[in-house]
Amino acid sequence: MSSATPRPLVAGNWKMNGLTASLGEAAKLREHLEATNATCDVLICPPATLVAALATASKGSALAVGGQDCHPKASGAHTGDVSAEMLADAGATYIIVGHSERRADHAETDAVVEAKARAAHRAGLIAIICVGETIEQRKSGRTLAVVGAQLAGSVPGDATATNTIVAYEPVWAIGSGLTPTVADVAEVHGALHAQLVSRFGATGQAMRLLYGGSVKPSNAKELMGVAHVNGALVGGASLKADDFLGIIAAYK
Ligand code: PEP
Repeated sequence: MSSATPRPLVAGNWKMNGLTASLGEAAKLREHLEATNATCDVLICPPATLVAALATASKGSALAVGGQDCHPKASGAHTGDVSAEMLADAGATYIIVGHSERRADHAETDAVVEAKARAAHRAGLIAIICVGETIEQRKSGRTLAVVGAQLAGSVPGDATATNTIVAYEPVWAIGSGLTPTVADVAEVHGALHAQLVSRFGATGQAMRLLYGGSVKPSNAKELMGVAHVNGALVGGASLKADDFLGIIAAYK
């Protein structure tokens, strides 16, 4: 990927939501993507139980499928865990790593997130590495320091513009209906972009940066229009095809 403006990605994170019946929403998405020529990449990351079924149903379509997490190792005695290789085998092409819910609920450090991103690369998958500040960190003026440290610690040295995407997701904006101002998003994305360029040169220049946190059809166009925002990571509004398509429409 060498163009100055990377192709955007609109990614849906279903989190721990979705039973077999939910695959109907993805079918609606595929139908719409087939009928229109989307100018962005589109991804759904369902729970691990649905990855294989969704990937099989989406084969050959414009809808990509991803995992929401992976174990750093390829296999072994890790009950309940899923490896990047297993997700790739099931048909995934992306994996979200370091989501703030995993950092908080499973005490994942930057080192753990970096190991998971490396695992995604090892399996030939694209890692979507999440960073973001808490409300306390923002209120105390530490946002750029916090996300800068997360970026430095979570993005592995083997990252390229084709195997790595960074998602800026303010923790306080996730699922809350709150969003940062356009100026705040521009400030953080500008800083993350500059840090990636300083570390990776031309590769960092082309690395995609997603914004995530209460993106919905009504605010998508404004948020996606900010400099160095190359798409969205969407939670709640990715569960219904109509809402998700309303966000994808920001790229028409
Ligand atoms: C997320 O969890 O990645 C997310 C952005 O959630 P929501 O869109 O619901 O705020």
